[in-house]
Amino acid sequence: MKLTIADLADDQYAGRRVLVRVDFNVPIEGDQVREDYRLRRAVPTIEHLARLGARVLLISHLGKPRGRIVRSLSLKPVADRLGQILHVAGVRFSHDTIGEAAQQAVMAMKPGEVLVLENLRFYPGEEANDPAFARALASLGDLYVNDAFGTMHRAHASTYGAAQLFPIRLAGFLVQKEIKVLSQVRANPPRPFKVIVGGIKIADKLAALKALIPKADRVLLGGGIAYTFLAAQGMVVGSSPVERSYLGWATEVLARYGEKIRLPQDHIIARTLKDAPQLASGAILHGYRAFDIGPETSLAYTHELMQGEGCIFWNGPLGAFEVDRFAEGTITVARTIALAHWRGAMAVVGGGDTVASLRKAEVLETEMTHISTGGGAALQYVSGQDLPGLEVLSEKT
Ligand code: ADP
Ligand code: MG
Repeated sequence: MKLTIADLADDQYAGRRVLVRVDFNVPIEGDQVREDYRLRRAVPTIEHLARLGARVLLISHLGKPRGRIVRSLSLKPVADRLGQILHVAGVRFSHDTIGEAAQQAVMAMKPGEVLVLENLRFYPGEEANDPAFARALASLGDLYVNDAFGTMHRAHASTYGAAQLFPIRLAGFLVQKEIKVLSQVRANPPRPFKVIVGGIKIADKLAALKALIPKADRVLLGGGIAYTFLAAQGMVVGSSPVERSYLGWATEVLARYGEKIRLPQDHIIARTLKDAPQLASGAILHGYRAFDIGPETSLAYTHELMQGEGCIFWNGPLGAFEVDRFAEGTITVARTIALAHWRGAMAVVGGGDTVASLRKAEVLETEMTHISTGGGAALQYVSGQDLPGLEVLSEKT
């Protein structure tokens, strides 16, 4: 068990600078937050600390600026949206994350105020877990809290290096809740245990599937991840994404666990996302790629998922659902899982984009057992692997 923010006496927070790693990596359109689920899930921790008189410093990444300043990936719109959601007064924003200007912004805070610091990944030191960047981050705060469940599978400066520099490292309420539910799926899922994985972060997901496939009773694959397996079966997949280094492994897995693995049998294909879709039942033509599972696959997956028993764990959209004509497979699966839950199955869904797809499918938060803010992190944790950002937190004694 990890030490949480509730384990520290209330009077320990007054006036102190609390550095809170949050996961505000949310979909943005223009300067608007398109999906604020992750922001809302961070509110209990932020308000708890603010009410106890802490100076709350929020640090997060957004997107992939790769160590450079990318204006469209500023956290400013996120800070603005957070200001609308929070009940406590005053959300400020600092254009600097570390250094003199950031220190000054922190010094100017009153107890109970909240400051959002600019995107951590504008600095190359964040993803490199650079010791100097970690020290600069750590020097901003007196206490360290991690409530960014979605990034706990990464040993970056904000989730690992900086955390190590604090004598006490606390879990926030969101992390506490996530671990409570996901540890049940990890250790003792109701059977049958059905796992459905899609999405585009292919290497990450294949690595987690390695550990998860043996534990699951059924594995349904879709989205970008399916084509490495189909290519391993010898299917012609056109320009669909294939992770070459995993082909040998995929062949072995299909030989050993093929009975429980389901792959798309038909595909919605196009040359690019902007082109008109076509249906492919066998090989995918040269120059075309699959952007969604086809109707036959959707129907087969519906039959696999619709019973009200056991546990369903889903991460990763089945297609490029942001574009309406490639959204059908994802919407069908989302609604089928909600139906299975209504009938009594445990339903756990996670991932930034997967959660956004629930909105498109008009599935409500209350229609699932748990909606995790983590995709890769949830997948890795459920598969039995450790999360560096969780390991580094203090143990409850
Ligand atoms: P999550 O955030 O839920 O963990 P990922 O980040 O791995 O999921 O993947 C989400 C993205 O995958 C979505 O933006 C979706 O458009 C994309 N995607 C899914 N299937 C395909 C596909 N067949 N081709 C291209 N993109 C896809
Ligand atoms: Mg994603």
